[in-house]
Amino acid sequence: MKTIIEPFRIKVVEPIAMTTATHRDLALKKAGYNLFNLAAEDVIIDLLTDSGTGAMSAEQWAGIMRGDESYAGARSFFRFRDRVAQITGFEHILPTHQGRASERILFEIMGGPGKVVPNNNHFDTTRANVEHSGAKAVDLVVDVAHDPKNRAPFKGNIDIAKLRSLFKEVGADAIPLVMITVTNNSGGGQPVSLQNIKDVRAVCDEFDKPLFLDACRFAENAFFIKEREEGQGDRSVSSIVREMFDLADGATISAKKDGLVNIGGLLLLRDDAVAAEARNVLIMTEGFTSYGGLAGRDLEAVAQGMEEVLHEDYLEYRIRSTEYLGENLLAGGVQIIEPPGGHAIYLDACDFAPHIPPHQFPGQAVACAMYRHAGIRACEIGSVMFGQEQPPDMELVRLAIPRRTYTQSHIDYVIEAVLEVHADRDNLRGMRIVEQPPVLRHFTVRFEEL
Ligand SMILES: *Cc1c(COP(=O)(O)O)cnc(C)c1O
Repeated sequence: MKTIIEPFRIKVVEPIAMTTATHRDLALKKAGYNLFNLAAEDVIIDLLTDSGTGAMSAEQWAGIMRGDESYAGARSFFRFRDRVAQITGFEHILPTHQGRASERILFEIMGGPGKVVPNNNHFDTTRANVEHSGAKAVDLVVDVAHDPKNRAPFKGNIDIAKLRSLFKEVGADAIPLVMITVTNNSGGGQPVSLQNIKDVRAVCDEFDKPLFLDACRFAENAFFIKEREEGQGDRSVSSIVREMFDLADGATISAKKDGLVNIGGLLLLRDDAVAAEARNVLIMTEGFTSYGGLAGRDLEAVAQGMEEVLHEDYLEYRIRSTEYLGENLLAGGVQIIEPPGGHAIYLDACDFAPHIPPHQFPGQAVACAMYRHAGIRACEIGSVMFGQEQPPDMELVRLAIPRRTYTQSHIDYVIEAVLEVHADRDNLRGMRIVEQPPVLRHFTVRFEEL
């Protein structure tokens, strides 16, 4: 069969409030043209993020009822620990309330002034936690990642030559660990090949440095490896996942992505001494080692979600539905980052609205127009998000797809709406900032239309 269907039926529904363009126009003005300021009820299709916005399965909800809320040694913790150990092979499995808590604990221990942390692309919270420790975050993604039209299969890879020259430039002593983000969220949701992880591992071995994965989308990345990497097509996704983790010394994970839950995170480690330190910080700031800031029921949901995300019919549907959105937008003349990523489609706003210069925020203008026209909420990833420090390489609008949440007709509606806004693109107007905070401005900045 050619059509890949959603491999689930719907058991519980949540109504969407249908709004009018007049209502949305007013809501947008009140929000200062910042889509983070909107009430979610004023949104028809919410593609702001795929983080914690997915639907849980009947088995996960059953786990929620079975949750053991004992303070220490809860049954739910052991189920969580054993499931994660079986999938990842790590010796030390620490639950945290979300990915950034794992990052904060890791960099409190391994970061610090004078240190330099390489990554393909640091996600914004990862960068913030590296820098908060006093260390410097350096992005070493391959150059093809910066070309939206290049359809290379693994545009999330680290450039090994750049990694080697960083070691030469700053000295191995300054580098506490090497990190790889799979898939590369800030770089268009593009995957990293198994070969690239092996090549980075070899550099780490040469300099005796640990390799960490920022593994929020480990299953999506493994599925891309199976689909695209030579010699990997006959393997199970689970075995590829295991090999990815076997190559690493540790991982930080937000379970709000491939954990298929609404809240939760993990810090995975091999080294006993680092794990002992991490447990102390965990107890001080998150909670006891058998719950780490989560309820017992949350641990049940993560244990079940980590298993479900490896079902290959789920992953085939997941990757195909993102691709379906991307290919239809491309066919309609909208430039996206090619090829489509795993969890999101990124529109090239410079191509969409070439008459709006970066300092007038073309991505924000496109995102606001999509909301006004059809109630779709997307996320600007360009000069609003990153321009406070230095102008970014690209002006993007990210349409992130929540897991198991929207059907094909919702996506058809999004395609139609984006193409209509695109047809009327000459009428898009730039934006001017009227109010902004000193850091991470995208969350609270206010604009007016020019
Ligand atoms: C979401 C995300 C994080 C942070 O996780 P939170 O659960 O939001 O704290 C870190 N890295 C990447 C790549 C992410 O996508």
